[in-house]
Amino acid sequence: MAGEFELIEHYFSRHKRSDSAEILQSVGDDCALVQLAPNERLAITTDTLAVGTHFLPSIAPADLAHKAVAVNLSDLAAMGATPRWISLALTLPEVNPTWLEPFSQSLFEILERYHVRLIGGDTTRGALSITITAHGTLPQGDGLFRHQAKAGDWIFVSNTLGDSAAGLELLLTEEAETENAAQQFLLRRHLRPTPQVELGQFLRKYSCCAIDLSDGLLADLGHILKASRVGAELYLENLPLSTELLNIFGLEQAWQFALTGGENYELCFSVPPHLRAEFEQAVKKQGFFVSCIGKITQAQGIRLFADGQPVELPSQSGFDHFQ
Ligand code: ADP
Ligand code: MG
Repeated sequence: MAGEFELIEHYFSRHKRSDSAEILQSVGDDCALVQLAPNERLAITTDTLAVGTHFLPSIAPADLAHKAVAVNLSDLAAMGATPRWISLALTLPEVNPTWLEPFSQSLFEILERYHVRLIGGDTTRGALSITITAHGTLPQGDGLFRHQAKAGDWIFVSNTLGDSAAGLELLLTEEAETENAAQQFLLRRHLRPTPQVELGQFLRKYSCCAIDLSDGLLADLGHILKASRVGAELYLENLPLSTELLNIFGLEQAWQFALTGGENYELCFSVPPHLRAEFEQAVKKQGFFVSCIGKITQAQGIRLFADGQPVELPSQSGFDHFQ
């Protein structure tokens, strides 16, 4: 492989000759050019994954590509947007085909799963780092916003919480046993997060407030509460926990992972009381798994309850890069 341009052509040009009418220019010119429909609004988000901060140097390139796309699509999901296009800024220490091949394969695999096109990027040399900018679309006047929670709304989360943090713990502390299905489940929840793209779009009918859980439930719900100037009570017995998490770590530690563990990439959202019954019926019919874990309150702050009894908040509530 000679240089930068051959690398881009070989590994990142699969969507260059686009058959989608709205991409007017893709990889290969100074900018990509896309066409929006008259009533569409653009949702734009960027996330960087840097070696040592967001992933271990030993990470498999296929897992890294999946995660870099997933964390960006998760932000679009939390807005209720439909993911459409990404650009990829890649910093590589060297041109290594045995690394680039699985990276590129896995990248296009997750992109095609969500009907997203790679329309541009940048490629440079340096310590391994990946920045993706994802573009999605929303109908005009629609979307899920952090500042839209109201006192009295019910708080829901998708799927199960804490699995990813438990998976990371296994990765850091133990030799995971390949034949241990529960361990493999938790590892996979950490290494291959699933962005809740379809759920996010479905939610727009019942909710106007959501966030994706990247830093931990307490921290991320805290962002909703601050932006909406409200508080919340949470019912610990309602936290959705996988049997794999419970079997390996036990209830106390599972609660801790669920409340403060990062990188879930599930959605936390609010549903107004008059829509709850209709929402719960519709969501089940669609095959999504969601749990009602609490309620938005006028009183600020977060209060925890276990079977009706108040419980102390954990001291460390989530992840912050600068603390
Ligand atoms: P420029 O010098 O004009 O910034 P580049 O030389 O960086 O352009 O890139 C050439 C073309 O290849 C551009 O269209 C750019 O969007 C695309 N590109 C560069 N790196 C990547 C990448 N990692 N993935 C996808 N497209 C890329
Ligand atoms: Mg460039």
